[in-house]
Amino acid sequence: MHRRMPGRTALAVLLVTTMLAGGGTAYASTAGRPRSGAAVAQARGMDSMKSDIATALYVVDRFWAGHWSQYFTGRYYRPNIFGGYSRGGRPAPFCGGRRLSYDNAYYCANGRYIAWDTDLMRRGYRSGDAWVYDVIAHEWGHAVQAHLNFTLVSRAAELQADCLAGAALYGAAADGTLRFEEGDVREIAAALRSMADETRWTRPGDHGSASQRIAAFDRGAAYGVPGCMGM
Ligand SMILES: [Zn+2]
Repeated sequence: MHRRMPGRTALAVLLVTTMLAGGGTAYASTAGRPRSGAAVAQARGMDSMKSDIATALYVVDRFWAGHWSQYFTGRYYRPNIFGGYSRGGRPAPFCGGRRLSYDNAYYCANGRYIAWDTDLMRRGYRSGDAWVYDVIAHEWGHAVQAHLNFTLVSRAAELQADCLAGAALYGAAADGTLRFEEGDVREIAAALRSMADETRWTRPGDHGSASQRIAAFDRGAAYGVPGCMGM
């Protein structure tokens, strides 16, 4: 079913027909959307990262849109997608009156949007495409937190976002929209490790140590969204 690209350990995706038919969500991102099988293959050849980002946005949104009411009351709020910015290119957007930092990725609660430094994504992508899936699923986790009753949001918000990322990516795999391949799990662990703090989580805002971040992601992967509540 999926097309495995030579030399890649991809989170290969079963591009669902609604997406190919243009019935998917229109994202205001720079990434562009896959159009047809041929176009997808061509886009991957030219810029596979853009294609993976577009796919990550699609599958994570689809997971949350499809499962929100299973876990939470109220409606699902899809975050806006600002998309990529970079030092030499499109400037970082403002969030609450301040420009976002480079070399990072964000959910801006003030503007309800997700944005990332394209150079950060590109560096991570070199070590494997699972990187962009992890970053996007993590920031999406913050967007989810923003709409939860405060009693459900962990003080260890970063670790909870990692947990929600695991829940969304493995949930998407269970739904059949995403397919994990050899190397992906290792790549995600490497991504979490490289973005971890030196010390263990102690205060809100801390990301937590590498082992804490990996454990949080694994928890979401194993127990799903409910496993991330009451962390
Ligand atoms: Zn975060």
